[in-house]
Amino acid sequence: MALNLTEIKGLGPKRLKSLQNAGIETVEDLLNTFPYHYEDKTVTGFIDESLEKKLTVKVKVKERGKVRYLERKRSVLIVPVFDQKGTEADLVFFNQPYQIKRFLKDKVFYIYAKGSLKDGRYKFYSPKFAEGNDAKDFFTIDPVYKKFDGIPEAALKKFIHTALEFSELKDFLPLYQRERYDLMDLTEAYRQIHFPESKERLEKAIERIKYNEALRINTGIYWSKSEVQESEIKLENVELVDQLIKSLPFKLTGAQQKVLNEVYKDLNGSHLMNRMIEGDVGSGKTIIAVIVAYLFSLNGLQTAYMAPTEILARQHYENFKKLLEPFGCKIALLTGSVKPKEALEIREKLKSGEIDIVVGTHALIQESTVFYNIGLVITDEQHRFGVKQRGLFGNKGNVHTLVMSATPIPKTLMLTLFGDLDLSVINELPQGRKKVSTYFYTSKKIPKILDFIKGQVSEGHQAFIVCPFVEESEEMKEVSSVNETYEMVKDYFGDSLKVGLLHGKLDQQQKEEEIEKFESGETDVLVATSIIEVGINIPNVSTIVILSADRFGLSQLHQLRGRTGRSDIKSYCFLVSDNVSELNLERMKTIVNCHDGFKIAQKDLMMRGPGEYFGFRQHGFSNVKFIHPYRDREIFKKTKEMIDEIFRSTSKEDMICKDYLIANFNRELSLVSMN
Ligand code: ADP
Ligand code: MG
Repeated sequence: MALNLTEIKGLGPKRLKSLQNAGIETVEDLLNTFPYHYEDKTVTGFIDESLEKKLTVKVKVKERGKVRYLERKRSVLIVPVFDQKGTEADLVFFNQPYQIKRFLKDKVFYIYAKGSLKDGRYKFYSPKFAEGNDAKDFFTIDPVYKKFDGIPEAALKKFIHTALEFSELKDFLPLYQRERYDLMDLTEAYRQIHFPESKERLEKAIERIKYNEALRINTGIYWSKSEVQESEIKLENVELVDQLIKSLPFKLTGAQQKVLNEVYKDLNGSHLMNRMIEGDVGSGKTIIAVIVAYLFSLNGLQTAYMAPTEILARQHYENFKKLLEPFGCKIALLTGSVKPKEALEIREKLKSGEIDIVVGTHALIQESTVFYNIGLVITDEQHRFGVKQRGLFGNKGNVHTLVMSATPIPKTLMLTLFGDLDLSVINELPQGRKKVSTYFYTSKKIPKILDFIKGQVSEGHQAFIVCPFVEESEEMKEVSSVNETYEMVKDYFGDSLKVGLLHGKLDQQQKEEEIEKFESGETDVLVATSIIEVGINIPNVSTIVILSADRFGLSQLHQLRGRTGRSDIKSYCFLVSDNVSELNLERMKTIVNCHDGFKIAQKDLMMRGPGEYFGFRQHGFSNVKFIHPYRDREIFKKTKEMIDEIFRSTSKEDMICKDYLIANFNRELSLVSMN
């Protein structure tokens, strides 16, 4: 890898910074910046097949288009076309009035886009297109990359091209292994991934990259096996914990008690606990954390509790305070938005041992936090963090770890992400929980749903209205943006209801104010983005409306639905989407009919890849991009054999390969845990 990023033409300091911010620091990282999907323009079909996925359709212009001018020099061009089956559609272009001259009556075009249906008519928004005669260059497979600040996609492709041409990339995998499994050479694989020549070559390239990913995963498993540490901690006073349990407003479920016993058993053992507690949303994982943290404080040991968002951290903090302060525990909140002076004070108190339990976000794990005597680290919804943080606490002392997750994780992936974790499952919901009645409607029903909310509010309950995260995209016009929805809902309710607004762009203080207003009942309805997805617990919410529900993953929908039904109030979930494609209807039906988060997650995992499922991409974790824990089981098996053979061998090429894999794995870990 002789080439340096700075040597690539056109890659100035600003763009370099932008890449570095995304974790791309070497030419190899650049090559590993894989497209997040491919636009396969070789797939052809008819207009009525275009609702589910983008495809290339041959159309004829029915008549000259029409341009509509809007305010501020904006315009819409609409061109009516039809395909060989006679189905009609409109091509819609924004702010390109001059295109009208191209689309002459009876001319043939190939267009590539996903169709949508509006009032019974097919629409193609800003399709890619080519005139019938120049179509031969049109049938390509185009990689699509995630956007980097200030770097147009064309420039990115150029950089990757240069990197491919000039880096002296050596395949780390010994030739005998490649031949045995008929794997594509690594340079060629990168070439095909970024500049695919054909579907067949691309598939072969992806297979090779899957092997690389599985090799890394198996390196992780190999590595984490030797990591179990002896425990130096002895815990007493377990019987005192019973007083806390007795003071709770509810009785622990059988499943909670069982999990607690498993934790106790770990804590009595000779090795450090490293356990994940999986439990569906609302199954009551938090109370386990509270109880265990209390046990540690009774033994003079501190607990760090990490939540994935500030909102959630604050909520857990309140919860810990409410339950444990009466028992004399000192609890602090430490997040990125705590004022520096206050944070300093908290850190001092953590150092001197005055604080027993600290609840917070990642700010917690910054190096400047020194503990007096930390014994337990708990991470909530760990998969959101993107991987291992255990190592980070390793140098803070002899610590037990507990991980909470509502998302079931296949064993193979779990091993890589968390090392050799033991697993406890809370497979029972607290008594009295009613199923959240779930319905699917198109947007025509929104007024009816809002009326329904009015009724619920008059009975003293509250509601969430969730909009998808707004992306810059072609279909932008179609997406209900959170601001517009807020205005619409406010208009509809007038003075009768109080509406709040919560999204990621607000600053932390505004966010907290909005949540507080909602929690205290000052607002009745909260219009929000999926920022509320994880963990938020406001038991008085009886209704959640999820707009453009087709834009959310299944597990995400289930998590969102789990924001309701958190007490014995009868709860409702409305999924709203105008996407009535077969695929989407099936997805919606899954949520309507199924209330078991584990089953939903399984289905989600089957329908999508683990990359999307765990949100690795946001975390820059390039490790798992293509491989699928179920579908690619064979590859996992084969790479395990490869690792066993290579790691034991003393031949030079095998040893080089082993060094490479270990170095790579360690680097990836250090990158990921910084998130
Ligand atoms: P999650 O597992 O999704 O993190 P929480 O721990 O937030 O769920 O618990 C959800 C709600 O259920 C909370 O309001 C909590 O107080 C309540 N809860 C927890 N355990 C029980 C129980 N055994 N009986 C009744 N309610 C419970
Ligand atoms: Mg939770």
